[in-house]
Amino acid sequence: MGRAFVYVILGGGVAAGYAALEFTKRGVAPGELCIISQEPVAPYERPALSKGYLLPESAARLPSFHTCVGANEERLTPKWYKEHVKSSYLSIIPFLNLIIHFLKWHNFLGIELVLGTRVKSADVRRQTLLTAAGETISYKILIVATGARALKLEEFGVSGSDAENVCYLRDLADANRIADVMQSSVGGNAVVIGGGYIGMECAASLVINKINVTMVFPEAHCMARLFTPKIASYYEDYYTSKGVKFIKGTVLSSFDIDSSGKLLILGMEVDCPADMVVVGIGIRPNTSLFEGQLTLEKGGIKVNGRLQSSNSSIYAVGDVAAFPLKIFGEIRRLEHVDSARKSARHAVSAIMEPDKTGEFNYLPFFYSRIFALSWQFYGDNAGEVVHYGDFSGNTFGAYWVSKGHLVGSFLEGGTKEEYEAIAKATSLKPAIEDLAELERQGLGFALAVSREAVQSPPPAVVNQSSGLVLERALYPWHATAGVILAASVAAFAYWYGRRRRRW
Ligand SMILES: Cc1cc2nc3c(=O)[nH]c(=O)nc-3n(C[C@H](O)[C@H](O)[C@H](O)COP(=O)(O)OP(=O)(O)OC[C@H]3O[C@@H](n4cnc5c(N)ncnc54)[C@H](O)[C@@H]3O)c2cc1C
Repeated sequence: MGRAFVYVILGGGVAAGYAALEFTKRGVAPGELCIISQEPVAPYERPALSKGYLLPESAARLPSFHTCVGANEERLTPKWYKEHVKSSYLSIIPFLNLIIHFLKWHNFLGIELVLGTRVKSADVRRQTLLTAAGETISYKILIVATGARALKLEEFGVSGSDAENVCYLRDLADANRIADVMQSSVGGNAVVIGGGYIGMECAASLVINKINVTMVFPEAHCMARLFTPKIASYYEDYYTSKGVKFIKGTVLSSFDIDSSGKLLILGMEVDCPADMVVVGIGIRPNTSLFEGQLTLEKGGIKVNGRLQSSNSSIYAVGDVAAFPLKIFGEIRRLEHVDSARKSARHAVSAIMEPDKTGEFNYLPFFYSRIFALSWQFYGDNAGEVVHYGDFSGNTFGAYWVSKGHLVGSFLEGGTKEEYEAIAKATSLKPAIEDLAELERQGLGFALAVSREAVQSPPPAVVNQSSGLVLERALYPWHATAGVILAASVAAFAYWYGRRRRRW
């Protein structure tokens, strides 16, 4: 049994949703595109799971956060996939709408969403994927968007982490579990293991749900991969003011259950009883299907500036892709939503319009929102750090300067204009001669650099990954073309339907 598609997206997360939208913008033909996802729901904005999804009241629920609402674009509901392929040429003639409806109804004009389906093996040479249900799906072009999985404590030799009420957070099923366990733990104690953004965001949600939180992590401060000690201490003080306790520089050894049925976390100075535990200790990219078949680097699938892997029929995007970061001249794998969205769009552009698509030119961007706080970071946290702003107030930040140039910027509590300014300034990598002067100018430096760039803009550059599609004027001959096209589509649908039934 099998099906064949021109384009297959393997994985149904953030990158898949943005790739699908881009495919339709660039005129993918009816029935050409298929998305296969292990998850039972259409692609959604994963960051919502640790934020709005865990709120005690008016929590976000699907379909409200399907992609691509996170980038203020269309919300791609399951219905959208069923119906959505550009039909402007056909719809200019009213009676052809009937044909369109017929075809959409039979899923000939849509995008095939194969949900709740795990791909268990891939044969790169034969260009096929084998699902856990035993179906073979073949492709001409494959986009790997398998993302990553949450690391488990067992992988670090911690026993007992399969105990009840020990939660992880990567997908909707995990978020539902946390929401359920939280409900039964109100007024109780939670331990959050890990001080990265999953740990920080979950800790905030637990507090909002009236659960006492202790955070445990091995590093000297929270968000150790990004924050400086000074930035971290601002957030730790804020969390402390909300009642969160920190146990830093500590690795737990195992879990146990005490006589009252509570989880006991062992290995710390005092054993810590908890009603629930949330673990956020990092992720591992889902590359296993392609190990030994594609070139891997930095834990991900190595791709070129067109997001194309060592096999020219296969592209990789999002968390699983290790791509050349032009601005810093090295291969990186990022684990952030903005890069998933933009790499997906760029790959589709490279596939559909290869001649018009250049190299992926990406400025790393990530953000987090916790309690009433909100920060954004652009670029690279390498080199010397210059802090600026009022660390006892609401707006402050840091610049990173490497080899005499601004390479990274962080800002808490900024306005839209200020965030845009730090993004712009970082992308321009201006020369920095005097760190003390940079500190004195603070946010004003980024604002001035970005204003200057607006006043004397560089020659227009076409953003290859912007997804802009030129509107074409409609002329009478389009009507004739529409009739011919409609007849062809109907004939194709009839032929394709028969062919699919044969497989
Ligand atoms: C709770 C949470 C909060 C986050 N918050 C932020 C944030 O605030 N800011 C930020 O910048 N980033 C955030 N991120 C990171 C961001 O969500 C990821 O970078 C992004 O989701 C990556 O997109 P992706 O499409 O590569 O992978 P994913 O969105 O993880 O999608 C991968 C998909 O592939 C499927 N899949 C994997 N293997 C198979 C297989 N063999 N067969 C079929 N399907 C398969 C998975 O089930 C999944 O649906 C957050 C992540 C999480 C988990």
